[in-house]
Amino acid sequence: MKVKFWGTRGSIPSPGKDTVKYGGNTTCMEIALKNNREIIIDAGTGIRLLGKEITSKGIKHLDLFLTHSHWDHIQGFPFFTPIFSKDFSLNIYGVSPTFERLLDILKGQMETIYFPVQFKHLAAEIRFKKIGNSGILIDNAKVNSIRTNHPLETHAFKFEENGKSFVFMSDNELDHPDIAKVPYKKHLDFVKGADILVHDAQYRKGEMSKCKGYGHSSWQKAVSFAKQAKVKKLYLTHHDPYRPDSEIDEIVGKANKISGDGLTVMGAIEGESFEV
Ligand SMILES: [Zn+2]
Ligand SMILES: [Zn+2]
Repeated sequence: MKVKFWGTRGSIPSPGKDTVKYGGNTTCMEIALKNNREIIIDAGTGIRLLGKEITSKGIKHLDLFLTHSHWDHIQGFPFFTPIFSKDFSLNIYGVSPTFERLLDILKGQMETIYFPVQFKHLAAEIRFKKIGNSGILIDNAKVNSIRTNHPLETHAFKFEENGKSFVFMSDNELDHPDIAKVPYKKHLDFVKGADILVHDAQYRKGEMSKCKGYGHSSWQKAVSFAKQAKVKKLYLTHHDPYRPDSEIDEIVGKANKISGDGLTVMGAIEGESFEV
């Protein structure tokens, strides 16, 4: 698998001189499977430029996995231009109970009071597909999900192909007793041994007292979680919109000092890719 970050920011797009390095677009990732089949995770504002590339590459079909429907994960959808083409088809995957509302949610944000083109006028063929308890197969890649700890039902996804695994787990407050719908141990088991984990690290430990229950983690928790899960490489993502590049650099530096020998920590950078 080849994976690329198209949006790494949490909450709201945050362009400006302080966010040039890590990027200002909200959550979106692209996965190219070994046979070049393309998958997208989330439709934050990063999906706009990805759409341009999809069109220029002549790709006619995509699978889009939605973790949840907060703005920073769906706001780019109306600007994803392949959906305006009749030659394009899109499968949108979700997990219950959010899945049952996905069509209404995506339709809702394209009502005329918000956007000039309505969902029903999209030319592409769009199908909705539910991921069940046993996961699904996309060609040779196995995809499984687990609920995260977030105020709205949200899911993390694990992609496995050719014995390698990659987990995307954003919008997750690790080990928070008040909102913990899923025990820490279950999350550990889900992630255990992953080659690459991309995890929420919106806050610093000292900021958590003000942000308890928002459904995001401190970078310190994300690092200790990745260590315990024996992950090889961790990307910190869902950067706080007020976090300047210099602070993310500092966080990544400190994270690598406490991560230990077996784990490398990186900051997720818009436009960068990695091989799994
Ligand atoms: Zn988010
Ligand atoms: Zn969220």
